Formats: sequence, C-alpha cells, structure tokens
Amino acid sequence: MYHTLRLILVDQLNEQHCWLAEKDEGVLYVLMECRSETDYVRHHIQKIVGFFAAMRRFAALLREKGHAVDYLPLDDPRNRQSVAENIRYLVASLGLQRFEYQEPDEYRLSSELKALAGVLGIPVQGYDTEHFLSSPQAFGELFKGKKTYLMESFYRKMRVKYRLLMEEDGTTPLGGRWNFDAENRKKLPAQAVPPPACLQQHDVRELVDLVHSAGISYIGQIDPLRFTWPLSKAEALQVLEYFLRHGLRFFGTYQDAMTERHPFLYHSRLSFALNVKLIHPLEVVEAAIRYWRSHESEVSLAQVEGFVRQIIGWREYVRGIYWAQMPEYGQLNFFGHQLPLPSWYWTGKTDMRCLRFAIGQSLEHAYAHHIQRLMLTGNFALLYGAHPSEVDAWYLGIYIDALEWVEMPNTRGMSQFADGGIVGTKPYVSSANYIHSMSDYCQGCRYDPKKRYGANACPFNSMYWSFYHRHEALLAKNPRIGMAYRLWSGMDATEKQRILDQAEYYRREVENL
Ligand code: FAD
Ligand code: SF4
Repeated sequence: MYHTLRLILVDQLNEQHCWLAEKDEGVLYVLMECRSETDYVRHHIQKIVGFFAAMRRFAALLREKGHAVDYLPLDDPRNRQSVAENIRYLVASLGLQRFEYQEPDEYRLSSELKALAGVLGIPVQGYDTEHFLSSPQAFGELFKGKKTYLMESFYRKMRVKYRLLMEEDGTTPLGGRWNFDAENRKKLPAQAVPPPACLQQHDVRELVDLVHSAGISYIGQIDPLRFTWPLSKAEALQVLEYFLRHGLRFFGTYQDAMTERHPFLYHSRLSFALNVKLIHPLEVVEAAIRYWRSHESEVSLAQVEGFVRQIIGWREYVRGIYWAQMPEYGQLNFFGHQLPLPSWYWTGKTDMRCLRFAIGQSLEHAYAHHIQRLMLTGNFALLYGAHPSEVDAWYLGIYIDALEWVEMPNTRGMSQFADGGIVGTKPYVSSANYIHSMSDYCQGCRYDPKKRYGANACPFNSMYWSFYHRHEALLAKNPRIGMAYRLWSGMDATEKQRILDQAEYYRREVENL
C-alpha cells in the first residue's frame, strides 16, 4: 500500500520540515536504531540514549500527526543493523517504488546513501534538511580561489544576509562594530554561578537496559531516572528560555571562564538540541535578539553579539569547512603526531586538577564547554603529541553534541592544528598561565602553575615550550607566534635544557601525571 519510503536519520528530528506539512497515505517514514551508528566510535552512554530517546519521541510525534511510521528499535528481529541494509530490506519486502532521504550531514552516511541509490533500482531523491543557514555550495563560492577561510568574513556575510543585529540600512552592524570580543572573556568572580536549571527529568531505564543487553561498549555515566537533555522541541525551548533568563547576560563576559563550581556556567547547552535539529538556529538567535531588545538595561549588545556569532558564525562556518575539505580532512596530521591519548582521558584519574575536572564532568554530563574542550583536553593532547585521529575519536565519542561535521573541524582543525591552518591561524596552546588566569583549578592542584621544572612543576609549562621547540621548523615563520619564539630564544641554554628534560620526563610518565 505504500509507494515511497522516506528515511529520517537520528539527527534529522526537524518537525518543521516540509515533508511533514502534508499527509500522504502512500508515504512510509522510516527511523531506525542501528549498531552501525552505535559502534563506529565508542560513544558516551548519554549520547546513545539521548539520540535514541529523542528519535523515539519524534516517531511518536509523527504518528500523532497521522503519518505512517516504521520504527526499527535496536532489538527488532528485522533490523539489519545498518542504515543501507535496512533500506534495501524494506524496499524489497514492501515492494516500494521510490526512496527519499534528507541529505546526511556526515560524509560517511552521505557516501553510503549515494552508493545505495545506485543499486536500489528505483527512483531516489535527496532533500535538503532545511536546517542550516548556509549551504556548502555558497561557502565554496565565497572562498573560491582563496587560500584561507576567514571566519570573520563569513560571519559578516551571514549577519547581512539574515539582517541580524544590523542597522536599518542593512549594511552597518548595530553598535558600529561586528565583534565585541574585546569586552568579553573575563575571569569569573568568586561565588558567581547561575541559578539551578529546572529541566525536564526523563526516565530512560528502558534504553539503558537495551544498551546493556545489546552489549554496546560505551563510556561515561548516566542516571537512568534523571536524564535531563531535551528530547523534544518543547523541551529544547525550555532550555533556551532558561539560557535567555540566566545565561545570556553573562554569555560573552564569562565565555572563557572555567570553574570547578559549575559544569555549564553561562553557556546555553543547546548544541545537542541544535545538532539533532529539534530546534532551528535562526529560531535560537532571533529569540536571543528579541530577549536582548526587551531587556536592554540588563543584557548588553556585546553578550548577544557573542552568542549570535557562535551560531550563525562558527557553527555554520565549521560545516562549510567540513564539506569543502572532506574526505581528505580526516587524514590531515600537520605535525605528524603519533601518540595514543593517555588512558586517563577515559577515567579522569589524573592529578592535573584542570584535566580531572574537565574530563570528570565530560564523563558525568557528556558535556564540557568550549574553552574546556579547547584549552584543557585539546591543549594537553596537542602539547603531548597525540595522533589527531585518536583525539577526533575521543571527542566524537564523549560529547552528546558530537557529530563529525562539527566535531572534526573543531578538533582536528581548531584544537589540534592538524590541518596546518585551515581553521585557525595558529595552534591553540597555552602554558599554565592561561589556565590559572581563567579558572580556579590551580588552587589546590598537586602541581605548581608557576614552575617550569623541578618537583611538582605544572606539566603544561614545560610541554608548552617543548612543543614549540619540537615544531620550530613548521611554526617559526608564523607571524602570530613570533613572540613565543623570541621568548624561547632569549632563555639561556641551561634553562632551556631543564625545561626540555622536564617535558620529556612528563611525556614518558604521562600515565602517572
Ligand atoms: P554555547 O557556548 O552556549 O554556544 C552556543 C552555540 O553555539 C552552541 O550550542 C553551538 O551550536 C554553537 N557553537 C559555539 N561554538 C562553536 C564552534 N566552535 N563550532 C560549532 N558550533 C559552535 N560543538 C558541537 O556542537 N559538536 C561537537 O562535536 C563539538 N566538538 C568540539 C570539539 C572541540 C575540540 C572544540 C574546541 C569545540 C567543539 N565544539 C563542538 C564547539 C563547542 O565547544 C560546543 O558547540 C559547545 O561547547 C556546546 O555547548 P553549548 O551549547 O553550551 O554552547
Ligand atoms: Fe592544571 Fe597545571 Fe593548574 Fe594543575 S597547576 S590545575 S595541572 S594548569
């Protein structure tokens, strides 16, 4: 009785998609839980449960709206455990005459569906997901013939295109500036944390049991009675509402601050809901701008601009990079780093207090905010010399919002500089100085943030200099790093050798740090 199969992937839970505006009795919507997706990397258990729980909710919503749905749970005997195999099976067994899908965001799945289209023997059509504000084609046009992709120029185009935070003329940015970063990024005052968020708590015992009975290997922890990531659009809007009331006013100011007192601080926690498409990016930034307009005495333009930039700037930009550079991007290793990550990346058991907190909260919440990802776990992995594929796999597994199109340019590009400067103009590395100035982690740490060598010297310090020393041939000509090399060459030879010896010792003893 059905003529068309329409596939909805686990990160395509967009209830506003044009497909759903009309009912067609000949269309069967198919959603599935597959081992190919749970096993391509070792995921956090909250990520597996969150994706499946949101997809189950979405299937129920489609049924409520009168659409025909075939949902294949992980333990369904019909489930072939791969997206392509399930489609082949359903098309053949139901005698379907047409296959339609929304374009996957991941290169791996996109290739799989394109290959499938060639062998199904029926008409196949791909549709836009209607989620993003820019297309890979437009991104390619904008940077045609250019050697570097400048985020700032992309961001300005997006502001103009969507008339966001613009004067009436449509070309001048509000406040006369495109970017207010200079006023942001302060250290958190003592005691400052946002009020507790009152988030919907879900009972996800059934899915947790399913993960266990299927024998899926995972990382991290979950409280099966109190799972709080949003699973529907209404819940995503509640998270947004909480952020607007309590986070937006400090968003830019404390964007880079890190504290042991709070895992989320003034960040929005919207990345999961955005990335599975429960909520649309334009809806989020327009809500933020509306809130700012009605609370201008409490929320400054700098805060809202900083937030808008993350979503219409960075988020769209990294997607453009991903599609412009794949599949080669996934192999880039500018520094030729080869080491595996220390085993404590999966347990948090290290005496380095900053990393213990960042990894510990990642295992507990499947979340760390941007600066923890960039300047703690990413920074250490780069200074140490971990293989970028190892680092990619860790980030792709541990965070609830991790999908390759956004994870990879951030990790391999921005954080590991394995692309040699496509995303960032210099490696994001720092010594303990930065961590000490932006966090409260160093107080009470076994290591001393002021010491470069000797007993209890902070490993970030010697490893920072040793990184620059090892990669001098690749980095010394970078004008943005000149100062570091000038400082290094100004140190006397004995001092340098002590630092390098200390770094070598720490790199050898990395499991015991
Ligand atoms: P907020 O700080 O509240 O920011 C608001 C929104 O802006 C986010 O929800 C996100 O959608 C967007 N955003 C902010 N920064 C970025 C960025 N650099 N790239 C893309 N979008 C951005 N983000 C992911 O969504 N998935 C990932 O797998 C991912 N991996 C990362 C890996 C590394 C090494 C680094 C340094 C960053 C990564 N990010 C990733 C970007 C960023 O850290 C997260 O988007 C953010 O921490 C999510 O938390 P939030 O929703 O509270 O963000
Ligand atoms: Fe991290 Fe070093 Fe500070 Fe310890 S002293 S918290 S290891 S930066």
